[in-house]
Amino acid sequence: MSWLRERVARSEPPVGGLQLHELADPPVSYFCPRCGWHGNVRDVATVDGDWAAPVCECCYEDLHPGIEVVVSYWSVSEASYLRKTPEDHLPFTVIRSRKVARRLGGRDEMYRPHFSQDHEVWEFTSVLVEEARDGSSYDVTEIGEGEASAIMERTRAKYLSG
Ligand SMILES: [Zn+2]
Repeated sequence: MSWLRERVARSEPPVGGLQLHELADPPVSYFCPRCGWHGNVRDVATVDGDWAAPVCECCYEDLHPGIEVVVSYWSVSEASYLRKTPEDHLPFTVIRSRKVARRLGGRDEMYRPHFSQDHEVWEFTSVLVEEARDGSSYDVTEIGEGEASAIMERTRAKYLSG
């Protein structure tokens, strides 16, 4: 990850041990070791100057004492008319939605275990935005973090065994 250090265009003043860095020539494809985000980033943050494991902008907001982050989890199942077997009724993945309080927008991420066997991997998804606009092609339901973990475990087990 230290190659990211070479890409820093500008750094914000540190907050405690936390510091946000703006990257030159964004977006940069990147894997966040803290939250499992896989995708493009414009900024990364370091914790105690550790360039071995810089975290993404959402993790920066999570860790920042002055920023209030709201995270919600949503189960995703096939639409009812597509369900053929009882197993199709089970949610096949989870969406993690992170928003900063009193700020518009946020990042909706879908759990994608097939991208990695070693980590939790999350990628951007527009399902919740579609759902809010005129309904998505999936059934989505807000769930708690415990249920989200159970679905993720089942999804990972299914992927790794198949
Ligand atoms: Zn992250």
